[in-house]
Amino acid sequence: MQREVRLLGDPVLRRKAAPVAEVTDELRALIDDMFETMYGEEGVGLAGPQVGVSERVIVVDPREPDVQPFALINPRIVQLGPELERGEEGCLSMPGLKDIVERPSTAMVEGLDRAGQLVHIDASGLLARILQHEIDHLDGVLFIDRVSPLKRKMLLKKWQKVKPAHAP
Ligand code: ZN
Repeated sequence: MQREVRLLGDPVLRRKAAPVAEVTDELRALIDDMFETMYGEEGVGLAGPQVGVSERVIVVDPREPDVQPFALINPRIVQLGPELERGEEGCLSMPGLKDIVERPSTAMVEGLDRAGQLVHIDASGLLARILQHEIDHLDGVLFIDRVSPLKRKMLLKKWQKVKPAHAP
């Protein structure tokens, strides 16, 4: 079932999400809904708070031939690479806004898969960017917090013009 995507201004997006205590069928149903929602909105990643669930779970699909879509529960950045890379980001919680964000180009991430098994991911390129963006969501951080204050001001100004009618 596709769920409503929470938009900028919704307090759930700014809350620090709680760790998942146990991987249950209920959580797997949430993950299925998150995939459906992500694909319905043509996104490449989605975090629990974006569907109003303040729990540490993300789904990711960079749409690259060598990467299978996956969910990650209680994901944690183990290490970020030394090199920074600039790349354009958008966010399903801020449709219409895009900007260049500088982030480490590689990231080592671990978490649990939907079976509750610990997995390690050595990510680079788009996958590394998506993982950092989605894990930020679990800490209440949005990509507009990762640009200069001036750019953020411009983005927020644009939001007032482009935000959907039902946005808070
Ligand atoms: Zn986002």
